Amino acid sequence: MPTTREKPGKGTYKCTKCGTTVHLDDNTDTLPPCPKCNGTNFVRIS
Ligand SMILES: [Zn+2]
Repeated sequence: MPTTREKPGKGTYKCTKCGTTVHLDDNTDTLPPCPKCNGTNFVRIS
């Protein structure tokens, strides 16, 4: 499961707490905390 501060690669990730999605445009982007609930656990959805 990708978590905040990892670099899981290009794609869209969904916060497991509130469902907010975060999009990473580049393989070097770091996954941020959820902008809505500050959650740190995500699942890859695309
Ligand atoms: Zn969230």
